[in-house]
Amino acid sequence: MSSSQLSTITDRIATVRQQLPETVRLIAVSKQVPVEAMREAYSAGIRDFGESRLPEAALKQSQLQDLPDITWHLIGHLQTNKAKKALEHFQWIHSLDSLKLAQTLDRLAKSMSINPQVLLQVKLLPDPNKYGWTEEELFADLPALNECQNLQIKGLMTIAPLNLTEEETLKLFQNTGSLAAKIQQQNWSHIQMQDLSMGMSDDYHLAVQGGTTMVRLGRTLFGSRS
Ligand SMILES: *Cc1c(COP(=O)(O)O)cnc(C)c1O
Repeated sequence: MSSSQLSTITDRIATVRQQLPETVRLIAVSKQVPVEAMREAYSAGIRDFGESRLPEAALKQSQLQDLPDITWHLIGHLQTNKAKKALEHFQWIHSLDSLKLAQTLDRLAKSMSINPQVLLQVKLLPDPNKYGWTEEELFADLPALNECQNLQIKGLMTIAPLNLTEEETLKLFQNTGSLAAKIQQQNWSHIQMQDLSMGMSDDYHLAVQGGTTMVRLGRTLFGSRS
C-alpha cells in the first residue's frame, strides 16, 4: 500500500475514525510498530492498543509509562503457562480460545483480585491456522465458562480466513453476531455478549456492516509491517 506511506499516522487515524460509527471501538494493533509511531497514534486520540506477543508488549509498556490511560488488548494466542504475565500486562484478552485457558485465567484473576475483560475466540469456518471454539464446542463449554466468575466475559472475537469472498466474509461476521445473540438469550449469569471484536485492515468495512463493536487495525493505521 504505497499510498498509505504518503499520509501520516494522524491522517490515517482521522480517516478511519470518520468511517467508523462512533460506537465502534478502534483498537490500534501496534505489533512490530515502534513506540514513536504509537506516541503519534496516542496524540491522535488512540487509547486502545493491541499486541500479539507478551515480551514486546511488556517492553513497550515500560517505554510508554508516561502515557497512563492506555488500555492494552492481547489479540494473539496465549499459552496457559504465560497466563499470569498476560493478566499483569493486559486489561482485555481477545484471544481466549479454550476452556482450560479460561479456567487458568479465572484462578489467577481470583488470586490477583482482578476481573479481566475477555472475549471468546470463535471460528465458525474451519481454519487450521486459527485457534478458537467452533459453535458446537462453545455451547458445550458455556456452563463451565459461566463458572469462571472472576472473568468478565464480554463477547466474541473472530478472525476471518484469508481466502473468502467479500460476501462470505460478511456472512461470517453476521453469523458470529447471531451466535452472540443466541448465547445472550440464554441469560447466563456470568457471560455477557455485548461486544464483538471482528475486522482487521482488509475487512473492517465488512465487520462494521456485520455489527462489530471493536475493530483491530494495524496496517491501515501504521503502514505495512516489515
Ligand atoms: C495482526 C492482527 C491484526 C491487525 O491486522 P492488520 O491486517 O494489520 O490490520 C488484527 N487482529 C489480529 C488477531 C492480528 O493478529
